[in-house]
Amino acid sequence: MHSPLADDLATLPHLLQTVRDYAVSVLDGLGERPVAPPPVAVPAAPLPAAGAGTAGALAAFQQRWAPGFSGSAGPRYLGFVTGGTTPAALAGDWLTGVFDQNGSNRSGSSAADLEKETVAWLGEMFGLGPGHTGAFVSGATMSNLVGLAIGREWIGRRLGVDVARQGLAALGPITVLSGTAHSSVYKALSILGAGRDALRPVATLPDREAVDVAALAEALEALDGRPAIVVANAGTVNTVDFDDLRAILALRERYPFWLHADAAFGGFAALSPEHAHLVDGLAEADSVCVDLHKWLNVPYDAAVQFTRRRDLQVDVFQNAAAYLPAVSGDPDFFHLTPENSRRLRALAAWFTLAAYGVAGHREIVTRAIAAAHRLGERLTAIPGVRLLAPVRLNVVCFSVPGDLPAVVRAIADSGEAFLTPTVYQGSPALRAAFSNWRTAESDADRVAGLLHKLLTS
Ligand SMILES: *Cc1c(COP(=O)(O)O)cnc(C)c1O
Repeated sequence: MHSPLADDLATLPHLLQTVRDYAVSVLDGLGERPVAPPPVAVPAAPLPAAGAGTAGALAAFQQRWAPGFSGSAGPRYLGFVTGGTTPAALAGDWLTGVFDQNGSNRSGSSAADLEKETVAWLGEMFGLGPGHTGAFVSGATMSNLVGLAIGREWIGRRLGVDVARQGLAALGPITVLSGTAHSSVYKALSILGAGRDALRPVATLPDREAVDVAALAEALEALDGRPAIVVANAGTVNTVDFDDLRAILALRERYPFWLHADAAFGGFAALSPEHAHLVDGLAEADSVCVDLHKWLNVPYDAAVQFTRRRDLQVDVFQNAAAYLPAVSGDPDFFHLTPENSRRLRALAAWFTLAAYGVAGHREIVTRAIAAAHRLGERLTAIPGVRLLAPVRLNVVCFSVPGDLPAVVRAIADSGEAFLTPTVYQGSPALRAAFSNWRTAESDADRVAGLLHKLLTS
């Protein structure tokens, strides 16, 4: 054995203790670490010839790379939609590496059954019911991709084409209708061969990001009976607006369409008694995307893809080979997802659900919603700041006086917080998205205080 490797093996308990101590110091400092340090160029290092062992690698990492890492796991990183890692999720993620199971199939391990249990728990938590089965994928983009791939197959079957065998060329163009689709939907359509132009944006309600269902009905009517895909948005990134799922579902009596719901983070509204009505009808969607590395607060990269048509999913994703288990009544995961070998991502989610239950995750969700409302209220007291939409769930979307890029930079340079810019209905804006388990209302106050200082000095 190569000597640094043999030395590491001989001192493994000590090495893990060293890494554990370092991890504790990082986590202890998370609340005060610069939230988003400006990028500093790290000078290139040559490919290590012999290697320095784990202790040497740790020292090099601490010296070269760690200083530039963000505090994105901490309480005031409000950019994009970013979760952290609960203690239990961290334990689960650590053990994922320790056990290093291939979650692709059930040969010789119960790991895939743990994933099944986790998916069933999540389905119940999101109110999906037994009609849906699911699988872990790496994020909401992949979840949308899988849902749309099954929808594409469904359209093919309606028109007598087996897209998985014959290809999309045998089917011709498909139509995807959506009000305010996430960018990942366009990306998925590009990958799927349907093309980004397959998505036809449908008008939204006045001053809203939610689809105008009457306009959607008109667009479906114009298809003259040709089946389509409708992407319903359950939580848009700018203003967390929700399509009226019940009204969209009612259109299925008149028009043939596959309903894919992108509930990447909005699905967590199901946990808040005051907001659960926003996702009423989710269980009846044909495919559903929910991200987990956002509001469940498990580490990257984890999301779930749910569908009511596992049969079509297998048609798309089956991976038949003599050396692999065959597709059976209860297909293995590698017959269901883009990956073949796959990390047991479910373990971190399993741990956090086992540790904190529905009640614990409801508390995280309701606390984030409270923090967003708190920030929204405090912002309205700053001269020139304007909320561009009511705080519907966990995101505050607002405009600021002055030069927006300069404000974004000043916020990041303060080390106190990180917010990302956007464009909402043609106006440059800022978003503050709350989904970290550590965030308290006092963090919202700190961010409001910072903005007050930056915008009034
Ligand atoms: C974040 C997000 C996505 C993409 O998720 P990734 O996990 O980054 O791939 C898709 N849809 C919505 C609504 C999102 O918020």
